[in-house]
Amino acid sequence: EARGLTKSFRVPRSPSGSNRLRALDGVDLTVGRGETLGLVGESGCGKSTLARVLLMLERPDAGTVRFDGTDPFALRGKELLAWRRKVQMVFQDPFASLNPRLNAADLIGEPWRSHPGLVPRQERGKRVRELLEMVGLRASDADRYPQEFSGGQRQRIGIARALALNPEVIVCDEPVSALDLSVQAQVLNLLTDLQAELGVAYVFISHDLSVVRHVADRVAVMYLGRVVESGPAEEVFTAPRHPYTAALLSAAPSLAGTGGPERPQRIVLSGEVPSPVDPPSGCRFRTRCWQAVDICAEVVPAEQPAPGDGSHLAACHLPLGLAPAAAGD
Ligand code: SF4
Ligand code: MG
Repeated sequence: EARGLTKSFRVPRSPSGSNRLRALDGVDLTVGRGETLGLVGESGCGKSTLARVLLMLERPDAGTVRFDGTDPFALRGKELLAWRRKVQMVFQDPFASLNPRLNAADLIGEPWRSHPGLVPRQERGKRVRELLEMVGLRASDADRYPQEFSGGQRQRIGIARALALNPEVIVCDEPVSALDLSVQAQVLNLLTDLQAELGVAYVFISHDLSVVRHVADRVAVMYLGRVVESGPAEEVFTAPRHPYTAALLSAAPSLAGTGGPERPQRIVLSGEVPSPVDPPSGCRFRTRCWQAVDICAEVVPAEQPAPGDGSHLAACHLPLGLAPAAAGD
């Protein structure tokens, strides 16, 4: 559970005089045990910084992270090590994240070096072979090197490596973006099957809505360092309340096989994403929003619940009623 996460970085001074890049600006999110939270947004919206904070690779300037009620940033020593085991990461590019001089067994077992008590040395070979089979590879693949595997197989090794520490949460940052479409579906299905089997939760980061739709129970849509809409995935995807979400959805090709009826009317966004060094006042989306009014420049929109149980929120002064996508699937 994250509340009010804020993180900025020092950058060269912009023409307006600002030298802070506001990567996260008051982000709230929750991921439940065994569920998948899809985190969606264009590049530069803060998704990767958020991932780094959740993995404790980056300390927020303000805000809190709680894991089962514990603040991981307050932990030290053994407790910190135990926490680190629970939250693991799967990266975008399996090429870049795997050391070419280590074979599959070494790569999968590498995390045990920092957690020596977890799997006794004499059981490690057996555990590696089990992990290989869990991710759809063969036990005999243990002796092969990354360059002998396909991209999809390398991502399976990346997943096995993340699973080696029996995590409770895996932060997946664009885990299938570097893969061919047909392979993407296989890796997504593997992640879904592993979740059903192990009860692991995913924070699934992607710019690709069709991919997120395939896996997420809930989604959070980010724009320029803020969550602009969040809620149950099916609701957000069929009845978006924030204009930015509606625009993203209208531009997304539907995932092969989901075969929804009509595509929602295409919304073409004007302009580019503003710089996070000089973000717009008020609503950050206002420079590209077709329904912006004066108040949008003056007041940061509060999150408003959609009708229902209150779990579907949109930070907009004029949330969409019946959005174009509601007419589609
Ligand atoms: Fe558009 Fe205003 Fe809503 Fe922002 S607050 S998304 S500018 S209508
Ligand atoms: Mg990124």
